[in-house]
Amino acid sequence: MAATGDMIYAWTTDSGIAKKAECGGAVTTLLKYALENKIVDVVVAVKKGFDLYDAVPVAITDAKDLDQTAGSLHCGTLLMSTFIQKYLDGAKNMKVGVVVKGCDLMSMIELGKRNEINMNNVLTIGVNCGGSVNPIQARKMIKEKFGVDPDKVTKEEIDKGQFIIEYEGGHKGIKIDELEEEGYGRRSNCRRCKYKIPRQADLACGNWGVIGDKAGKATFIEICSDKGADIVSKAVSAKKLDTCAAEPKGIEIRGKTEGAMLKLGEKWRKKEFTALRDNLWDFIKKETSRCIKCYSCIEKCPVCISTPFVGRPESYMVRPGYIPSDPMFHLRRFASISDSCVNCGQCEELCPVEIPLALISHAIRVEGDNAYVPKLGAAPYKN
Ligand code: FAD
Ligand code: SF4
Ligand code: SF4
Repeated sequence: MAATGDMIYAWTTDSGIAKKAECGGAVTTLLKYALENKIVDVVVAVKKGFDLYDAVPVAITDAKDLDQTAGSLHCGTLLMSTFIQKYLDGAKNMKVGVVVKGCDLMSMIELGKRNEINMNNVLTIGVNCGGSVNPIQARKMIKEKFGVDPDKVTKEEIDKGQFIIEYEGGHKGIKIDELEEEGYGRRSNCRRCKYKIPRQADLACGNWGVIGDKAGKATFIEICSDKGADIVSKAVSAKKLDTCAAEPKGIEIRGKTEGAMLKLGEKWRKKEFTALRDNLWDFIKKETSRCIKCYSCIEKCPVCISTPFVGRPESYMVRPGYIPSDPMFHLRRFASISDSCVNCGQCEELCPVEIPLALISHAIRVEGDNAYVPKLGAAPYKN
């Protein structure tokens, strides 16, 4: 029987899933088991869209369709929380199984606090995340730095500190550090992220720490809740999943890798936040002066629940129809999410005039956490 706190290697007994899966196929197998046995009514996962750089969220109710979601898409940053909130009525009347990266999970927790998602109805299968790459940047990087036609790439992965591609005729890896020093690499919010192993999920799954003959063939699972332990135990009893205890050396390696990633996150925070410090107001003023008030940053932010226009009291400080926006247009938003920005990067990624909104929101959030949360005696969020 699996228990909370266990660290195990797990691999699927389904040859179809094994072929498509990123590691041991444990994530797809557990979700399939949950759907087949009515532990959940629907699974929210991700599948390949137009091409390898396009990740599409899907809601699946027929277990046989789940195989198409196996595998990791490192260019996708989809907020599963918004998907559940908007299209599945916040899991209020159904049980949902969902795959979550750290930012997906944090935003779900925030929406849970606002009664927008019923977290009691959600089974969260976390995937470790070392970071993702914007699809447009990924294509540019592959062309310019790797010298390969992005349309010829058959697989991309981030492993052992490298961005690796397989393409017709070979494979190539370049160190993430090197790429990022030259302005390529992961999304800027991912570079600053310090939530690499989503331990607030029911299970945290990844490849760090899988060594020996299981390397590349098993998923490392950290069991984080009784709900997580229960589904693993049931899937093993049903012979859908095989498991063994993780190697002590593997656990040590995983710890070191996580530690190195956290240090890297801290390095990027220091670099980007201290650069803001010296001219913060001028920076905000200059950047937000491009705003065309399209409202995308508000609509796409998973933690920003704005009041609908109809029936809303008139703003005293934001003139309707004026661009560039009055300063309060942005200041009120930064203020309202100052303690809950999860650094998902969606506001910045989807801003049509490329205002670095996530950088500003994240800096404000981290400053607040560092200044006040320890005084309250609570552990700071690892966003
Ligand atoms: P599978 O059975 O292949 O299932 C994978 C699941 O992930 C599927 O349900 C799929 O829908 C979902 N998925 C795919 N892409 C995304 C996405 N962009 N967002 C949300 N869900 C997605 N593990 C580490 O140990 N270290 C890392 O640095 C690391 N970085 C990762 C970065 C990204 C962007 C992603 C998506 C995953 C990362 N992982 C990392 C996790 C790892 O790649 C595997 O997902 C994990 O080991 C589970 O393997 P599996 O064979 O059991 O999963
Ligand atoms: Fe994500 Fe931006 Fe909202 Fe922060 S402010 S949670 S980075 S969309
Ligand atoms: Fe302004 Fe960009 Fe937000 Fe649109 S997404 S309202 S342009 S800051």
